[in-house]
Amino acid sequence: MSKKGRVFSGARPTGRQHLGNYLGAIRNYVALQDEYDCIYCVVDLHALTTLSDTDKLREWTYEMVLDWLAAGIDPERGTIVFVQSHVPQVVELHLLFSMVTPLGWLTRLPTFKEKVRQQPDNVNYGLVGYPVLMAADITLYKASVVPVGVDQAPHLEFTREIVRRFNHYFGEVLIEPQAKHTEFPKVLGIDGQQKMSKSLNNHIEIAASPEEIQERVMQMVTDPARRYRSDPGHPEVCNVFTLHGFFSPEQVAQIEVDCRSAAIGCVECKRLFARNLADYFAPFRERRAQLASRPNIVWDVLAEGARRASVIASETIAEVKAAVGLP
Ligand code: SF4
Repeated sequence: MSKKGRVFSGARPTGRQHLGNYLGAIRNYVALQDEYDCIYCVVDLHALTTLSDTDKLREWTYEMVLDWLAAGIDPERGTIVFVQSHVPQVVELHLLFSMVTPLGWLTRLPTFKEKVRQQPDNVNYGLVGYPVLMAADITLYKASVVPVGVDQAPHLEFTREIVRRFNHYFGEVLIEPQAKHTEFPKVLGIDGQQKMSKSLNNHIEIAASPEEIQERVMQMVTDPARRYRSDPGHPEVCNVFTLHGFFSPEQVAQIEVDCRSAAIGCVECKRLFARNLADYFAPFRERRAQLASRPNIVWDVLAEGARRASVIASETIAEVKAAVGLP
């Protein structure tokens, strides 16, 4: 079957992935392979803008890519998986883009202002140029489609503006990528309050053992108004219930009824969820263990990915330089 185009998506190296990463990105990455040629990039250079834990980049890249491969991202199907810094042409394109990007565009971006608030002691040049590097990532690989959630659409629009500006100055050289609107559910952590995140330690890893899953799930905050087993519950405010929707699709309707009538208690409900979650990821854990027994597999996949990505990148850079007029 011929594919509809080329997808590019990047993710910062964050180590072992959690349910939020899985529901928000990984399962989409896997599904997109059916219809598109996919390029998935570990954006390690982007991770440097915060300059924290840089000594973990190697380990976190390995663990994240191991999760990706075990979840079904498959280079055998033509998917390119690679590390951003392994293809240095991206830095060249970033520099060329920086010449056509007005500084005011960058400093006005809400994401930049937010970063300045978050790390006032380290407002580095990389932070300002972050969206320019992102534009270089996407266009260097001639991606026609980028999966985005509703709240990320402005980021892609920024890339499109840079491409339009570049093409306006130098001719129709670069592809203006289109957004593929994708549902990225906001997954709350076990605290039931904040978005699931490793840094907040409110996460559940997809590679966790059934025992670890059970331990984390039993800590999950449920309906705060349900103080006694006999109190009727409000599943609409309970994060366990929301997650049942993803991992217990056949039981969720009954859980809702039983929760509202207090026919089921939270402990029992969580045990059921932990069991379903452990079962759901059982084939994943098995594949992950098989892959991990071949210690070079991740680095081999990334080396081959970088080799294939370089072919596209070199072509783009040659076209861009010729268009700009560099001798
Ligand atoms: S019974 Fe389940 S859905 Fe209802 S409040 Fe407790 S954990 Fe949440």
